Order: sequence, then C-alpha cells, then structure tokens
Amino acid sequence: MLDHVHIDLPERRLLIHGAWTDAANSLTFNTSNPATGEVITQIAEAGVLDIDAAVISARRALDEGPWPQMTGVQRGRILRRLADFIEQDRENLVVLEALDAGKPLAATRRQDLPAAIDCLEYYAGWADKIAGEVIPARPDALTYVTRQPVGVVAAIVPWNFPLMNAVWKIAPALACGCTVVLKPAELTPLSALRLGELALAAGLPPGVLNIVPGLGNVAGQSLIEHPGVDKISFTGSPQVGKHIMATAAQQCKRVTLELGGKSANIIFADADLDAAAHASGSGIFFNAGQVCSAGSRILVQESAHGALVERLVDRARRLKLGSPFDPETTMGPLISAVQQERVIRHIARGLEEGVRVACGGEVHGEQGYFVQPTVLASATNDMSVAQEEIFGPVATVIPFKDDAEAIRIANTSRYSLAAGLWTRDVTRAHRTAQALRAGTVWINTFGPTDTRLPWGGFGGDSGVGRDLGRTALDNYTEQKAVWLHLGKAA
Ligand code: NAD
Repeated sequence: MLDHVHIDLPERRLLIHGAWTDAANSLTFNTSNPATGEVITQIAEAGVLDIDAAVISARRALDEGPWPQMTGVQRGRILRRLADFIEQDRENLVVLEALDAGKPLAATRRQDLPAAIDCLEYYAGWADKIAGEVIPARPDALTYVTRQPVGVVAAIVPWNFPLMNAVWKIAPALACGCTVVLKPAELTPLSALRLGELALAAGLPPGVLNIVPGLGNVAGQSLIEHPGVDKISFTGSPQVGKHIMATAAQQCKRVTLELGGKSANIIFADADLDAAAHASGSGIFFNAGQVCSAGSRILVQESAHGALVERLVDRARRLKLGSPFDPETTMGPLISAVQQERVIRHIARGLEEGVRVACGGEVHGEQGYFVQPTVLASATNDMSVAQEEIFGPVATVIPFKDDAEAIRIANTSRYSLAAGLWTRDVTRAHRTAQALRAGTVWINTFGPTDTRLPWGGFGGDSGVGRDLGRTALDNYTEQKAVWLHLGKAA
C-alpha cells in the first residue's frame, strides 16, 4: 500500500532559534508506524542542553523582539500566512499523520487539518484585538489595565491529534505575543517538525517557535523545571498532568492542563435511537477511541438498552480496520504496543468483573497495534471499565432507570471533560445539561468541537483551565493595572 504513497519526510532535527540543529549529545530516537510496527526514521532527541538552548532562544525572542514589539496586525498576518501554508501542504500533513499516528487519511482531512487551519485563522484575527480597559477607580487617578504576553510558553502535547493539539497551543500563544517551546509526543514528532518548516517559511522570527522532540522524562521534564519558562500548557495523561502541576508549583508557574475523560453519553428511551446509536458509535470509535472526550460510558435507559446495544454492535461491525492509507479504512491502529496491551488488559478486567462482551474484545490482525471495536454491555458504573479511561475503541454500556439516576451515574466519575445526551424532550434536555458536571455538553449529537468555544474539564482528572475560544487569550496574557496620578482638578 505504501508503495503508492508519496512520502515527503520533514526535517528530523531540532528547531532552535530559527535553525535546524542536531541534539547536543547527538542522540536520536526512532519513530514508528503503528499500523505495521516498522521504524519510519530517526529523530534528533532533545536533551537537557537543547532544552536550555531552546528556552534561552525563546527568552531572547521575547525580550529583544521583534515578536512582541510587532503590531498585532503584523503578527496576525504571519499567523494567517502559516494557516495558508498548512492549507497548501495539507496532503503532506495528512500522510505524515497516517504514517506516524496511524490516522486514516479521510479522518485527518475531515477533522485535524481543517481544525488546525481554522484555529490559526481565528487567533490571527484576535492578534490585533487583544485590548485592555480603562477602569475609573477614583477621580484623582487615571487607572487602566493592559494585557501583556505571559512570556515563554512550554507547550507539551500528546500523540492522538499531533498537529491539531500543537496548533491549539501555539496559535493563541503567538497571537498574544508570547514565544513558544513546543515538545511533541515522542511517538508522533513528524507533523510538528513539518509545522516548524512551514512556520519558518511563513516568516516567524528566530526563537518565536522552537520545536524540541524528545522523551517526556528527559526533554519534557527539563522543560517544565526550566526557570526561563513562564507558562506550561499541557495535554496528556492525568498522571503526568499532576506531576507537571506539582513541579510548576515550585516556581509558581502558570499551568493549563487538558487531561483525560470518561465521558457519559446518556440515551433516554424517547430519543431517536438510530441517530443516537450512529453518533455514539462515532463518539467512541473515532480515532480508535484515542480521544480525551470519547463517549466511552454510554448510559441507556433500561427499556432501550437491548435495542441500542444491537445498533451499536451493528455500527461496530461495519467499521473497516486496516492501513490508514487505504481509502476504505474507517478505523486505524492504536498508537503503540503498550497502548494495545493496556486496552486488552482493561477489557479482561471488565470480564472478571462480570461485564458482557457484545462484540469485539480482542486484538485484530497479525501486524500493527489494532484492537477490535468493542461493545461491553450491561455494565455497572462501579466497574473498572466504567471508571478508568481506556483510551481505545471500547464502549461501556450502562443501563439506568430514570433521569435522576442517569445524572447521578454520569457525575460519578473522576473525570469531567464532556458529556452527551439524547432526548426529544426539550425541557429534559436543558435540565440534564445544567446538571451534568462537564466542560462541554452535546445534545442530540456527540463530539463536535469548534475553535470559538472553550474546551476543557470541570476539574478532577480532566484538568484545569480551557483551551480555545476567547478564554484561551487569558492563558497567554498577564494583566497589568496602571495608575497615573492626576491630583485635584484646578
Ligand atoms: P503522557 O501524559 O505520558 O504524554 C503526553 C506528553 O507529555 C508527551 O509529549 C510526553 O512526552 C510528555 N511527558 C511525559 N512525561 C513528562 C514529564 N515528566 N514532564 C513533561 N512532559 C512529559 O501521555 P501518553 O503516555 O502519551 O498517554 C497515556 C494516557 O494519557 C492515555 O492512555 C490517555 O489516558 C491519556 N491521554 C490523554 C490525552 C488527552 O487528550 N487528554 C491525550 C493522550 C493521552
């Protein structure tokens, strides 16, 4: 299959102060194709010295300019150009994500690329509209508040939406005049490196965006500890997120954490069951379930449980697992052998606890890290498969009696990222949406996101703060109150 695909690999070195450089200790690491397990190429591995150089570069670009000294219009123009270059390079990026992350071509064309481009365009529009305000506190002073860039931003991102997640961090940070050190996940560095090439071509000055692929416990760790970093914006596991928060606390660094989810998707018996089953299938099987907001707990009102499970199983059986380069493929592999084993272990534990496997449950194929789309039925909310984030194509279906029980089950979770609900009753829809502890609630749909809307959890293991929307500008600006003494009027 790959013989027919033109693959144009990007730079495989570190981007520091506008130049591509080998790691100081000359180390490299492999990045592999999750659909086959084969090594794709070697990437320079950032170590402590490289992280130091990247942060110093970002600091210089912040302190000496020209980035924060440019007008918002100029910064916006460069971000818009970057969006245009991504658009022109679209197919290359789609291929890189298929190769490195196992994402089916069509899915990346439909989701990741448009979202990344839209995000850059949206924040390009904000760059010249980030304003302070005059607050007339007292008559003998002119008092006003300005917004300034928060400083050097460490952006640390995972492997499930490699390009899109990187852009979600860098677009608002750059629009606000910050400079950035981006550490992509070690499993998926290729699209971030391409982004670096495009950013240089778009005219980002040296040091404004440094890109340092490397291991979490080496490159990531030295980045979060570095005193030159003012703000950490992280997406990934709760475990690492909490470690980052604790580390950042030593220097009172600001943090935004987008962590995990075990999102409840509530289907009332009065819902359009065909529509609910279809969207709920996408909600858990999209990206092979490796989505922080995956609808992994499907709560179904008792009288509809059988009918819904039947439809969901049918939806799962129609999925075509295979090479992400095959246009027929609708579900790709998991990212790694470790992730595959983790998912299979979760399913085995569910079986021990008494869940019923309605379909799937096993590894798929001879090569790569595929897992069958799996529906676990008649579960209860105290089972591990209802409480742990599996991060694979596994739907846990839990029956419920009435509205109060649905809300109680939905809110009994360490997570709080998103939730869905399906009903034809408009009052029930709004009442339930109000009661759910979740940063996003979808009614009669599941899964859409938009740059204009805030994205994040209500606390717990889903993290703190919000990406996207106008809100994200707060992540990357500091407010400064200025007093000008006027004295008494003559
Ligand atoms: P992870 O948290 O280990 O990795 C995410 C990023 O953090 C990577 O870039 C990694 O290199 C970096 N990192 C790791 N240790 C670090 C450290 N000590 N200091 C600084 N950076 C560090 O996540 P993972 O191993 O890629 O995935 C594990 C689990 O995380 C998944 O099973 C899933 O539950 C969750 N996850 C959630 C999301 C999400 O969007 N919320 C995305 C990916 C994974």
